[in-house]
Amino acid sequence: MSKEHVIENLQGLNAPASASAVAASVVAPDVLRTPEAQAATNAIIAEAVKSVFAQLGPLLESMSLTPAKIAEAEKMRRAKPPEEIARELRERQMMQLDLQEAEARKKENQSACSHRYPTGQSAFHVIHNFPDRQPRFSCPLCGIWVAPRQWMIGPPTQEEPRGHAFIAEAHPLYQEAFKAMASKGV
Ligand SMILES: [Zn+2]
Repeated sequence: MSKEHVIENLQGLNAPASASAVAASVVAPDVLRTPEAQAATNAIIAEAVKSVFAQLGPLLESMSLTPAKIAEAEKMRRAKPPEEIARELRERQMMQLDLQEAEARKKENQSACSHRYPTGQSAFHVIHNFPDRQPRFSCPLCGIWVAPRQWMIGPPTQEEPRGHAFIAEAHPLYQEAFKAMASKGV
């Protein structure tokens, strides 16, 4: 496009829009060119436009993305398929069973252990430095943990968010382990 053409086009922006361009397609007959006829025509057009939008209303509403619809779609997008949920449940169950088996095996080993070395010496090791100044004992052969009568804090509950505190009785082997420590003189 040449420079002259551009200037000519830009000048067109300042000129008022020609009335002929708007009204060229629709020419009102002379009969309608009275104030009453114009008013009636305006009213009819307004009513027609209003009724069109009234009919479109529900359609527009159903098309619009309301927060409720977005939330519903998001929920559906995040929902896991049922087979995945079933698999997760199954795996969790298997893991729990494995843990229970391992725990039972450990208990069995501990109850079968004499907590003594082949020489006959007690295998209990003593652990000091507890706030209540009472020693704890552990057997390196089976990993048993022997604690005295002590305060314990249970899991938190609705009433006790810091956990329920209670006194747990001493381990049945505590006295025996204590005596073994005294005889060793450690
Ligand atoms: Zn042991």
